[in-house]
Amino acid sequence: MGRLIVLTGPSGVGKGTLLRSLLERHPELYLSVSATTRAPRSGEVNGEDYFFVPRGTFERMIANGELLEWAEFAGNLYGTPRTPVEEQIRHGRWVILEIELEGARQIRKTFPEAFRIFILPPSLPELEFRIRGRGQDTEDAIARRLQRAQEEINAASEFDIQIVNDNFDKTLERIELTLFAPVVC
Ligand code: ADP
Ligand code: 5GP
Repeated sequence: MGRLIVLTGPSGVGKGTLLRSLLERHPELYLSVSATTRAPRSGEVNGEDYFFVPRGTFERMIANGELLEWAEFAGNLYGTPRTPVEEQIRHGRWVILEIELEGARQIRKTFPEAFRIFILPPSLPELEFRIRGRGQDTEDAIARRLQRAQEEINAASEFDIQIVNDNFDKTLERIELTLFAPVVC
């Protein structure tokens, strides 16, 4: 049966890297590709990492009801295209949304049955180290992401499960266990 899974956590915590590994190991999962007004980072591919669109196009998508949820994050707009997600779920697939807190809250209202995972950093200094290590964000973007990180971490308890991404392999294993372990009644 189709299922919606939401993965949230501060920028730089490792969500993208975890998801890449998860999808390699479970190609049956479907990762939703978001639309954003942010400029591509080097190496990012339009249509794979994001649909990179001008603000006017994004605003038209909102007006036309084409987004399942959307939010402004660190000065840019991000949103989930509705049709592919609904189609994949209808076809019985498990769909993953990698989205920030406000979007996750919207999904909680519209898809209360969605399973919501929050990824925590081991510490704020480690989060900053990872964002800087990624080497892709300006000082301004780093400052905005760190400021938002604390607000997001404060809301972690709103989620069904919280996982600290300390050791990468262990975190991946915990996500797999959470998703695939048979329910014991
Ligand atoms: P996000 O998608 O949450 O913004 P990324 O997946 O881009 O974060 O990861 C940010 C950086 O942290 C990357 O350089 C990634 O390799 C690194 N990283 C991810 N998980 C870990 C971990 N468990 N320990 C150390 N570094 C990690
Ligand atoms: P980044 O610019 O680092 O790729 O992403 C910034 C933040 O936007 C991350 O927390 C990421 O999870 C979030 N994000 C990515 N796509 C979407 C989306 O479609 N909707 C919402 N609400 N957030 C998104």
